[in-house]
Amino acid sequence: MTQRRPLVAANWKMNGTLASVRSLISGIKNGLTKENGAGDTEYVICVPYVYLQEVRDLLQDTDIVLGTQNVSEHEHGAYTGEISIEMLQDYGCQYVIVGHSERRNIYNESDKIVADKFARVSKSNIVPILCVGEQLQEREAGLTEEVVARQLNEVINKAGVAPFANAVIAYEPVWAIGTGMTATPDQAEEVHGFIRLQLARHDDSIADKIRIIYGGSVKADNAKDLFLKVDIDGGLIGGASLLAQDFLTICQSTR
Ligand code: PEP
Repeated sequence: MTQRRPLVAANWKMNGTLASVRSLISGIKNGLTKENGAGDTEYVICVPYVYLQEVRDLLQDTDIVLGTQNVSEHEHGAYTGEISIEMLQDYGCQYVIVGHSERRNIYNESDKIVADKFARVSKSNIVPILCVGEQLQEREAGLTEEVVARQLNEVINKAGVAPFANAVIAYEPVWAIGTGMTATPDQAEEVHGFIRLQLARHDDSIADKIRIIYGGSVKADNAKDLFLKVDIDGGLIGGASLLAQDFLTICQSTR
């Protein structure tokens, strides 16, 4: 089995001001030193578009990587309000979240749109963080695997399996996002194992190497137990990533 480098990604969502962004980055930078494990784990901060330039400058002398939260499925053109891959490349963005449940559910992004976005990102040097996950009613109806497989297959059918060699998957049960209802480590591990198995049906090596991170109310006090699971390679952190100390504790929980 491949030793996968853990990854912790912050998803700031639509939060922050220039002042709070500066203070948060400064807190994170001061806390992430080589002595406490920076380097062993990869850290990514997915910021709102308007802060890409500022955060890129602030992160210049660190190993922390810049990311963002969404991108257009189109290359360029008459798509008012949208942001293209080329624009993200201009700002040194290295990761982009695709198919976050808030995009799927609030902005009606279908599996097809998510697949188109993933395919678009895969043609660039930016790494997609593909989010998949079931709603509460789907879990309660025993449909978790069916939903996750459907979301994954739509992407594989569109883009093929090869781009997953340079992608990250985030399993994010929708009922756990921002609710304080974290999946138990066993619940999460079960789905992570299932996702890896789905990929292995196409390509064993990709399935073995891909990082599958968990998101959904990861906090300073539950991160370690989640990250101890063999198929959980880190986390996608929403609310807790807005507090430097909490985010740092989560980052250190991968060790
Ligand atoms: C997220 O937005 O991806 C997320 C997991 O949020 P939270 O950690 O707040 O549940």
